[in-house]
Amino acid sequence: MIKYFSTVGGRILLLIGIVNVLSMAGMVAFYADRQEESILQQNEQSLNLTAETATQGLRALMLRGDADIAQNYADNLKKVGTIEDFRILRIDGNEAFYDNKTIMSVNNKLGKEEFQTREDESVINILPKNNKYLEKVLADRRQISYTQREQGIEKLTLLLPVIPEQKCFRCHDKQQAVRGILKVTTSLMPVREAIHASRSQALLILVGCILGSLLLVGLLIRWSLVQRITMVTAAMEKISHGDFTQRIPVSGLLELVRMAESFNMMTVEVLRGYSRLTEEQNKLTTVIRSAQEAIIVTNAIGEIVLINPSAERILEKTSDQLLKGGFLSVVDDPDYVRRFIEMGGMGLPDTLVYKNRVLNFFAATICNNQNQPIGSAAFIRDITQEKRLEEKLRILSYSDKLTGLYNRRRMEELLEKEYERARRYSLPLSILFFDVDHFKKFNDTYGHDMGDKVLEMVGKVAKNHCRTVDYACRYGGEEFCIILTETEERGAFHAADRFRQQLASTTIQDDIHVTCSVGIATYPGVVSDPEVVCDGWETFLKLADNALYEAKAQGRNRVVQWRPGMIKKKG
Ligand code: GH3
Ligand code: MG
Ligand code: MG
Repeated sequence: MIKYFSTVGGRILLLIGIVNVLSMAGMVAFYADRQEESILQQNEQSLNLTAETATQGLRALMLRGDADIAQNYADNLKKVGTIEDFRILRIDGNEAFYDNKTIMSVNNKLGKEEFQTREDESVINILPKNNKYLEKVLADRRQISYTQREQGIEKLTLLLPVIPEQKCFRCHDKQQAVRGILKVTTSLMPVREAIHASRSQALLILVGCILGSLLLVGLLIRWSLVQRITMVTAAMEKISHGDFTQRIPVSGLLELVRMAESFNMMTVEVLRGYSRLTEEQNKLTTVIRSAQEAIIVTNAIGEIVLINPSAERILEKTSDQLLKGGFLSVVDDPDYVRRFIEMGGMGLPDTLVYKNRVLNFFAATICNNQNQPIGSAAFIRDITQEKRLEEKLRILSYSDKLTGLYNRRRMEELLEKEYERARRYSLPLSILFFDVDHFKKFNDTYGHDMGDKVLEMVGKVAKNHCRTVDYACRYGGEEFCIILTETEERGAFHAADRFRQQLASTTIQDDIHVTCSVGIATYPGVVSDPEVVCDGWETFLKLADNALYEAKAQGRNRVVQWRPGMIKKKG
């Protein structure tokens, strides 16, 4: 019931009911009061009429001189149905015709015994002399009525003054303005019962009218309002469950028509928006599913809600395994994933080795328009191939194509690094700078291709000759450089000469072979000459070149170690 009154229909019905009850109850109360007044008035009028009739009767009796039967007359009047008590009073409040006082005064006035005195004389006082109603009637010489309760019963009493007229003075004194008083009393009980019955009836009608009107209003509200609202609510509920085909009939009251129109327009718009959204979502899902990148998405509480096929392929896990392991364990390193998300990837490597493959990892929190987190997403790319290619490229960019040795660029990098290391840690460092002798002539004699083969062979010999901590490089053309780390003069000389001999004894085909001249520079020896300022790896290399120049000058196929005071190569 309470639930019903919290509905629109129930609330309207309740309000109408309250207004109805108040207005109808007010109306009924007003008319019931008016009816009560009218019943009481009618009752009083009928009592007046009765009293008036009785007065006329009494007057007729008295004027005919039949005063001795007046008492009898009064007693008989008491038997009239509506009259409960009828008394003829003298002005002193005593009932008339019971004592001999009046008879004696009349006989006295008439001078004869015209009326016989009573033998059983008695004085019956009905109203005390000072009764306020009695005094008022005597003073005003007008009838009055009043009600009073006697033994719990409400009674209406009428006091009617008997005004003497000319004919009365034959027997009575002229001095008395009021000759006597008629007291007529009637019970108000039947009247009250009639009023009560009428009120009960009115109440019954009131209840009937209220219930009837509420029923009618309730049905009207239900038909014209509640049904429509229920329809809209049911349609909305269906829409909320994804059924956008819902429409409500455009009919009824003006506001309801507008509401139905607006609702139908709204559903059309919602359907359009939903379709667009579904399309976008489908596109996005297709993109995510067909992406080569592993994509894993969670909801706001960190549960995985999306795993694309690439994720299963790259991570070598099934969806079930990923779901079971949870978002943080996608790459088997929960701490890394958690820190990556917390720090937005700042200060953390974005590549990691996972199951012998190199992965590029990125994860971020997804926020809504209010900047509240609604999930997380991880994007993982398998970059193993890229890394391999990168490494290949790196090696290629460092290598000389013909000999497979480090190229000049790399040589310069390595020499710079090693020279700096030697200087900082006071370590010995040597470089062998060598050049194939008369190579121009060789080319001219055997051809350029054979020349290339020689250079290839020189590269191999140089590489084989090196320790793993040394670097064999092609400086350019037929010039080469070997960096010997942590090697002092003596060691460098031996290594250079061994190499020279090795090369000279290596034939390419038949008896074809080449020789080379080698210049050596060794740190810290190069800085011992006060005339030479060795301020870096470039100078250091230049000194080795000077030594090579010296070796060429001395007749080739030999090793010359740079030493202080050595002549400088021109140019
Ligand atoms: P020297 O003993 O004074 O060094 O005499 P050289 O003839 O070796 O010196 P030069 O600098 O005059 O000649 C170098 C020659 O090396 C010239 C060039 O044709 C040859 N050369 C340079 N690079 C290559 C190469 O990649 N392949 C071949 N086949 N020859 C090359
Ligand atoms: Mg040369
Ligand atoms: Mg040469």
